[in-house]
Amino acid sequence: MTARRGQWQTAADVLGQVARRPGLTRAAVARELGLSTSSATEVTARLRDLELLTETPAPSQGRGRPTTVLRPHPRGPVVLVMELRQADWRSAVVTLDGVLVDQESKRHRSRRPDAVLAALQAGVGSAQAKYGDRLLAVSLAVAGTVRADHLMQAPVLGWSTVDLNPVVAGTGLPLLVGNDATLSGVAEARMGAAAGAGTALHLIVEVGIGGTLIIDGSPASGATGAGGEYGHIPFGDRSRLCPCGAHGCWDLEIDGRALARHLQEPEPDDPYNYAEAVLQRIDESPVAAAVGKVAAALATGIAGLVNAHDPEVVTLGGLAISLRAAAPDAFATAYSEGLMTFHRAAPPAVLDSTHQKTGVLRGAAALGLDHITTDTALATWAERTTL
Ligand SMILES: [Zn+2]
Repeated sequence: MTARRGQWQTAADVLGQVARRPGLTRAAVARELGLSTSSATEVTARLRDLELLTETPAPSQGRGRPTTVLRPHPRGPVVLVMELRQADWRSAVVTLDGVLVDQESKRHRSRRPDAVLAALQAGVGSAQAKYGDRLLAVSLAVAGTVRADHLMQAPVLGWSTVDLNPVVAGTGLPLLVGNDATLSGVAEARMGAAAGAGTALHLIVEVGIGGTLIIDGSPASGATGAGGEYGHIPFGDRSRLCPCGAHGCWDLEIDGRALARHLQEPEPDDPYNYAEAVLQRIDESPVAAAVGKVAAALATGIAGLVNAHDPEVVTLGGLAISLRAAAPDAFATAYSEGLMTFHRAAPPAVLDSTHQKTGVLRGAAALGLDHITTDTALATWAERTTL
């Protein structure tokens, strides 16, 4: 049986709402999607029959009609989300309401690609053993530049091109791969500080700066998924060579390496922790001056990106939040001065992220849930459930 295109669209829309706001009622979903009470009842009954959702009575809301809370079905599909970082990897299982369960974290025993991928593969194996055919996909976030299912460059891991497919070898599961900064931007745009914005720019500073432009909840990641490398725009000093191979990268102006240069201290081995330590010394005037320069370099670049992309809102993550908080005037002045005149009357708000430590896994979860609730994916699930 081939599903008619669009047959599952309303069901997919309902699941999309449930994934963004756990604990949503059927009445709220109907309101949000403009469905009549009878259509909402019909589509949720169908989702229940297919073991995608269950309904439990909602607490009474005064004189309003009784409604139900939509929850993931206990036999419904799940996605394994994983985050590969410099020193460790984390994982969780996400249910259709976007809730992360079974969260785990393990340090790398070795940072060699084959050893790390084998550890991740073992993690996938245990999830498959526990969830069986409810597990429909693996969504992997990596701290590096991603192109399709390959990691192209990951300076923090010291890896060059690595094929990530061994993570799902032997499982038959699809592997979705995303850059960590991009995925944290997805989380902010779907259910964080940028929720409701049609176009949102997310920027996160750790070692260097990454980010993404999100349009209607999806990242604009370019032809091959490698877009969003904002740190490698030449907003910096062109006499400086970046580890990426380009000259004058913005990356070199906005993190712990830049702070060390301004303070005439040696380049730190761990620029992130170095920057955090420097920010603790903000009362010392050379430190305040160095932080001011770095906050201004950050804000100037953000203004340039606002001129280029015209976002409704900008969200900040990682050290960008503490750099701005430590030098708010330097940041505000540079942001305003970098904007084209017409933007200055009502510039896009620059907001701190809502999801700090969990943003990456939440973004990976959102894209994983998108993947298993497409028209085609729901038709496949329905065939299996009704057999
Ligand atoms: Zn670079």
